[in-house]
Amino acid sequence: MTEFADLGLDPKVLSAVSDASYETPTPIQAGAIPPALAGRDVLGIAQTGTGKTASFTLPMITMLAKGRARARMPRSLVLAPTRELAAQVAENFDIYAKNTKLTKALLIGGVSFKEQDQLIDKGVDVLIATPGRLLDHFERGKLLLTGVQIMVVDEADRMLDMGFIPDIERIFQMTPFTRQTLFFSATMAPEIERITNTFLSNPVKIEVARAATTGENIEQGVVMFRASRKDRQASEKRELLRALIEQEGDACTNAIIFCNRKTEVDVVAKSLTKYGYDAAPIHGDLDQSQRTKTLDSFREGKLRFLVASDVAARGLDVPAVSHVFNYDVPSHAEDYVHRIGRTGRAGRKGKTLMICVPHDEKNFANIETLVGKPIPRVESPIKGAPAPEEQSEPGEKAEKPTPTSSRKRSSRTSSAKSTETAAPAQASTPPSKSSSSTRGNGSKSSKSSSSRSGSRRDEPVVGMGDHMPAFLTRSFKAPAD
Ligand code: AMP
Repeated sequence: MTEFADLGLDPKVLSAVSDASYETPTPIQAGAIPPALAGRDVLGIAQTGTGKTASFTLPMITMLAKGRARARMPRSLVLAPTRELAAQVAENFDIYAKNTKLTKALLIGGVSFKEQDQLIDKGVDVLIATPGRLLDHFERGKLLLTGVQIMVVDEADRMLDMGFIPDIERIFQMTPFTRQTLFFSATMAPEIERITNTFLSNPVKIEVARAATTGENIEQGVVMFRASRKDRQASEKRELLRALIEQEGDACTNAIIFCNRKTEVDVVAKSLTKYGYDAAPIHGDLDQSQRTKTLDSFREGKLRFLVASDVAARGLDVPAVSHVFNYDVPSHAEDYVHRIGRTGRAGRKGKTLMICVPHDEKNFANIETLVGKPIPRVESPIKGAPAPEEQSEPGEKAEKPTPTSSRKRSSRTSSAKSTETAAPAQASTPPSKSSSSTRGNGSKSSKSSSSRSGSRRDEPVVGMGDHMPAFLTRSFKAPAD
């Protein structure tokens, strides 16, 4: 088994890793760190939860240990699709670089330009940014990207969904073609493939399986729900959500409730609050300080229910989330995998329940195809809510359950029984698809596609089988926030 000490990392980095209580590298780390340290481009096909942040941060810190930052010219750049993910990378950087003198700046919306400008003016080693904010700084003439030696693109598939691919292409073109690129995406949609062919040079490809949805550690269920009347669907759905929460009782220590639309996120959060539940919304239209505050409360266990959109919650690393409720069936099947992967993390147990209304049945079928097995049907806990076979008979609206006000929090630590993340990584070096002479100046069509039709869409999701990496069996120490 590969050990961290075998990977060629700086001793200062190794000591920080050991302080973080990581015992063995995850497959993406074992696969990506050695080629990254050898200066190779890396294409990592991995999603959050696999340890991918450390797989690019640890070699980056090791390589930057030599050399010094210059005013306005960061030596490395990490691009992340959302403010939260960028902030999470910055937190990881602080943990792993704590024994070094490396500096960083975080360029995200909602934070004043002035403070960030001052840091950049002084010179930073690592710039962590969302694409839009980075371009804002660049256009204000405050930043030069010609000193970037290492560029990381994290969660490229989410960048594609959010329409950032043209921005990413522009940023690639502003960095020197001699840079090293570490590129991560959960899926390889055709547009992502095009970008990697254009801007990566003979990358080492590391692929780890997507999160297992079939593992014992995440118990899944779906309520096939039909409202008593069409105009009552929204209110009955909210009532059903409350009933499902109540049914889980103390086992539901905290939960993320996913909705498809931002407006729905607000409505559901408001409704839960009205009924006495400790809930708050998070989505892209809320201002940054509020998003950060909400997220911090949730992480610290002060907030029980986080009602979220996909974008806001994507990739968030909160180690102990007991439940995920899919208030809406996600329209992209892969989002189901991402959503439920917020629970059952780091070997803990988790439970997920979804509400499926008739309109969602097609999307639901796609999810079952993707996960490769049926999701168990759960009976609706609402008295009088019609079962699918009784659907032609409109029923009376059910009684409102009252939340348990004196709910005692149950212990947050549960035994690490099964696994969440990756199958063993396979590293391979595909034939070079772009010569270094074309690097950095590929300006082909920048048409961004919103298609999620990654080539692996039809494959069943693969878990780890009987293999369980040792790091998942040890007790988990969450990094300090
Ligand atoms: P990521 O996929 O980067 O979001 O990481 C998921 C979680 O795994 C984070 O909480 C990390 O702190 C944790 N982690 C990363 N690498 C390791 C490791 N080698 N051993 C144990 N935990 C890890």
